Amino acid sequence: MLYGKWRPRGFEEVVGQDHVVETLRNALATDKVAHAYLFAGPRGTGKTTTARILAKAVNCTTLAEGEPCNGCAPCDAIDRGAALDLIEMDAASNRGIDDVRELRDKIAFAPSDLDRKVYLLDEVHMLTTGAFNALLKTLEEPPPHAIFILATTELHEIPATITSRCQRFDFRRIPIEAMVDRLRFIAGQEDISVPEEGLLAIAREARGALRDAITLLEQIASMYGNAPSTDDVLESLGLVRDERTEKLAGAIAQRDLGAALEIAREVAGDGLDIARFTREAIDTLRERLLVAARERKPEVGVLTTAVAELAAADFRRDPGSPVPLEVACAAAVLGPAQPAAPPAAAAENRQPARGGQRRPQGRRRDPASETREERFLRELYDRCKLSQPALAAWLNGSCEVLAITDKVLQLGFYHPIHMDKIANDGRTLVEQKAEELLDHPVTLLVKRIERTAPATRPAKGGHLAEAAREMGAKPVETPEPPPPPHPPEENV
Ligand SMILES: [Zn+2]
Repeated sequence: MLYGKWRPRGFEEVVGQDHVVETLRNALATDKVAHAYLFAGPRGTGKTTTARILAKAVNCTTLAEGEPCNGCAPCDAIDRGAALDLIEMDAASNRGIDDVRELRDKIAFAPSDLDRKVYLLDEVHMLTTGAFNALLKTLEEPPPHAIFILATTELHEIPATITSRCQRFDFRRIPIEAMVDRLRFIAGQEDISVPEEGLLAIAREARGALRDAITLLEQIASMYGNAPSTDDVLESLGLVRDERTEKLAGAIAQRDLGAALEIAREVAGDGLDIARFTREAIDTLRERLLVAARERKPEVGVLTTAVAELAAADFRRDPGSPVPLEVACAAAVLGPAQPAAPPAAAAENRQPARGGQRRPQGRRRDPASETREERFLRELYDRCKLSQPALAAWLNGSCEVLAITDKVLQLGFYHPIHMDKIANDGRTLVEQKAEELLDHPVTLLVKRIERTAPATRPAKGGHLAEAAREMGAKPVETPEPPPPPHPPEENV
């Protein structure tokens, strides 16, 4: 970790806190060290680092003008994290009265390997009232060999009784210029070459926290190698859009599913945050949609669908997986997967205009069995969705039940992409859930079938299409109203 490696070892290396280190160095040089310090300020500004340097300085055998030598045994032990008498306590996880009492009981004992025991209490504002009271007693009469350093990001939450017994130092957000200098130094030492503009962007993004800036530098170097360009830096900070969102939008507009899936796979392969990439892609698609709508281009339909499908993609279950993005692209390009359709005959009677639901004559079966199969398919999808939603999405309205026997479940798919996904990746899931529903094991068989007319939008995209129209989009092909999500009861 770069931050740990380049953590300042002496006061002179502490960045952007000159007022703090000057005062401390003077106190050390004139032997006027206090018994209790309070370091307050935002995270990542050097409070813990300065506390450790102070711990070295009060124990260093060859202190020079307030600076620890970093060569003697006490300095070395503290640097290695091996000093028994530097006691670091995270008050966020040890916040109770018993934790502080334990500390108070031990403080009376003489130090074992250093001259002075140094207690570093981080996030001290997290202590309970009882713990603060116990701490207060110790601060009132500390043994001469003990020094307290309390650190906090929330000064206003520290009781006045505590602050009044400490010498307080306020750590400031580190100025941009000082951060850039430090980043340049570390990058140089690590053989990482970053353009000045890139360093500036990192420093700005870190908002005064040097630790965050160094972590960002490290992430960028691990992602783009040792010579990232300014664009690489901006991209990794999310300040520019990945140019592949343009390519993805283009592929979708041209209904080139192969190209779209290729891009999704490539992005996932790069280890990028797919959810963020998808959000950027939605922005790109929306901009393209506005232009297309204004210029009355035929791609309005597919772009509207794409915005809705990508917006509905859910990455929470498996954040690194490109599958939700792939499913959304497929749904946008191939036409959306249909939700479980209402019984064909009844639906056609009620809404004769909706041609999308009409079945080919050859596959028409009696309505009773059709209803049963559709119910089965919907239950199958629901169960699959509960355990593996991303995979289950390939099943959503993409197929029909062709046959259920005591050995076989045959599904007919409208598109080979859905069929291949379910037949390969989704086979175990589907067979398992089908067995749960049928009470006996079945083998999944798949078959390509034709859908007679392009699908209508499923209900989930309806409001987005509506929003797009309100934004000024004028679809060339007016989308048909979404089908009802469930068949009306009286027709079942
Ligand atoms: Zn030393």
